[in-house]
Formats: sequence, structure tokens, C-alpha cells
Amino acid sequence: MHDAAGHEDHDHDHDHDPSQVPSDIALRVKALESLMAAKGLVDPAALDEIIDTYETRIGPRNGARVVARAWSDPAFLQRLRADATAAIAELGFGGRQGEHMRVVENTPEVHNLVVCTLCSCYPWAVLGLPPAWYKSSAYRAQAVIAPRQVLATFGVDLPETTEIRVWDSTAEIRYLVLPERPAGTEGWDEDALAALVSRDSMIGVARLPAAAGPRP
Ligand code: FE
Repeated sequence: MHDAAGHEDHDHDHDHDPSQVPSDIALRVKALESLMAAKGLVDPAALDEIIDTYETRIGPRNGARVVARAWSDPAFLQRLRADATAAIAELGFGGRQGEHMRVVENTPEVHNLVVCTLCSCYPWAVLGLPPAWYKSSAYRAQAVIAPRQVLATFGVDLPETTEIRVWDSTAEIRYLVLPERPAGTEGWDEDALAALVSRDSMIGVARLPAAAGPRP
């Protein structure tokens, strides 16, 4: 399958664009959804709710666990750097669209941004389903050409001195950004840390604010 449902074995030698002519599979899915809704078999609002759940809630929580562990456990961080797929599998996350992971670390000097310029490759195992903007032709084109401006549209204004590295995901490698640990979280446990980690920070279009108060 392509685009909305991701895809697995493609080799990036075709240039499909989900914002233009819908693919055959997308048309078929739409037709099925319309038919099932018309027959009262599914509620479109319920479908939207399911997608939202995997896009913004369940999916990214896995990545947040990985990030919180990396902040808390130096030995895990080393394993994550050496073989992210294996380290992530220690936490029970893996499988389709998560077989070949690489973690890229933000520092005060370097900010990492992830895109799939040709389609929508995304690390499902740790982030769930990609958000619609990730699949848009605007994001896919501009993230490489003008990453600083793209980040500004997400409300991230980086100092000129910060280097931005853009990582182009493929079916072969999927990237997870390891955000900087927020100030004010010394001594926090993994659950409290994980709760701070947003999906967008793991794609690289957001930075995590300093902790606002005492450990929850
Ligand atoms: Fe792709």
C-alpha cells in the first residue's frame, strides 16, 4: 500500500505525490469507506477517531518511552547509538515500518529534522501513523530546500548558529529524533519524562520547553 497507509518494499524509483492525483489504492479505500458508511457499517467519525488515536496518542507514546529511556540510562543511549533497531526492540517496539531505525540526537549545536522527500516513509513502530502535513508536497519539498523557514512555520526559531541536519527517510532507514532533555527535569523518572515528549519533537519540528514546575 502507499501513502496514507505507508508502504514497505518500494525502492523510491517512482515519484508519487499524495497531494495530486489520488493513487488507485487511495481511491479504492475512499470508495470502500463511502460504501460502508452509506450502508451504516462504519461511522466516519469513528474512523477519524481511530486514525487520530494512532496518529497522536498511542503511536508516539512508544517513541516517548524510547526517548525517556535514552535520557535516563546512559548504557541504553549507547546501544541506541550503536543499533537503534535492536535497542528499540528491547522496549518491545518493532515490526513493520520500524525494521531499520536510526536515532539522531539534538544538541545545542545541532537540530535534526526528518522528512521523506519522495513519499511518506515514517517510523510506525515508534511514532504510529504519519500526520497529514508530513505527507504534504509542501513539507516534503521545503524541508530540504528551506528547513529553517519550515521550522519557523512550526514555531521553532533556531539561532543562526544552530546547524540543521535534514534526514530523508526511505524504506531502508527511518529516523527518530532524540530531542534535548528539557531543563528542570533532573531526577525525574521515565514516566514523568516520557509525558513531556511530543510527537513533533521526535520528527524534529518542535523543541521541548523547559519543565514548568516540580516533577509530577
Ligand atoms: Fe517514502
